[in-house]
Amino acid sequence: MDIRSVGVVGAGQMGSGIAHVFALAGYDVTMADVNQDSLDRALAQIDRNIERQVARGKVTAEAKAAALARISRTMHLPDLGASDLIIEAATERESVKDQIFRDLVPHLKPETILTSNTSSISITRLASRTDRPEKFMGFHFMNPVPVMQLVELIRGIATDAETFQTCLLVVEKLGKTAASAEDFPAFIVNRILMPMINEAVYTLYEGVGSVKSIDESLKLGANHPMGPLELADFIGLDTCLAIMNVLHDGLADTKYRPCPLLTKYVEAGWLGRKTERGFYDYRGPVPVPTR
Ligand code: NAD
Repeated sequence: MDIRSVGVVGAGQMGSGIAHVFALAGYDVTMADVNQDSLDRALAQIDRNIERQVARGKVTAEAKAAALARISRTMHLPDLGASDLIIEAATERESVKDQIFRDLVPHLKPETILTSNTSSISITRLASRTDRPEKFMGFHFMNPVPVMQLVELIRGIATDAETFQTCLLVVEKLGKTAASAEDFPAFIVNRILMPMINEAVYTLYEGVGSVKSIDESLKLGANHPMGPLELADFIGLDTCLAIMNVLHDGLADTKYRPCPLLTKYVEAGWLGRKTERGFYDYRGPVPVPTR
């Protein structure tokens, strides 16, 4: 199936990045959100981010103008009805996503492929509540979308081969690389990354190392570009905790139990960069470890 138009549901951090890369790759994009502010912020963000690519000589000014002209915005979900591909990137809450699919499905063409950018909700379960589980799959971008090379493509139990192949071609056209993952909790990247971050928090909790020594050890000793605690702050500690809970509940194995110190930071509202405090305090000119 030839995909030309894409409907993106949710114009937050991920939805705006997704609209950005699709529009630059030549797709017509319609972004839908329940919040007009999100739609306005998303377009301003896309404009700024593509401008940065223009300044670095990676995108021409003409390509930028053409990409922005390909993006339309709406607060009316049925406006996405003509899209060939839907990428749902709304708030990570199952009831929200279910309602979106329920409202959207009656307006879609029968051949439209439905996907979700969810980081942790079962693709098979989301698919089962739609009219097209065979044309439903996970299309999982990494944050920030314009920068990160990987897209995880997750097949639910019913996803057919044609749907997978079509999405694979789309990822290639975006200039990104796909990794195929089965539909088990947290898929591949977060299944491996989050337990490592959680273990780094345990290492801090047990006093084996300080924030600084843990991050330096992984940067200089394992060649990681960012330390695990610095990375946790970047992702958001609430998100890290939510994904550990999905692993713990979904795989029923105590090796995934979230570190009590991670829970404590979240309870304090110290969620990382977005709240200016997490394992580091970002309120001054340089980040200062909080432990
Ligand atoms: P976000 O909070 O930045 O954005 C969510 C957007 O969804 C908001 O603009 C909100 O107004 C909108 N929304 C809520 N209900 C809606 C509805 N009924 N219809 C339309 N829009 C609605 O969240 P985000 O970080 O962009 O995450 C979005 C999705 O992407 C989640 O499923 C998340 O798991 C996934 N994801 C996030 C990351 C990340 O690092 N943030 C990475 C990969 C995947």
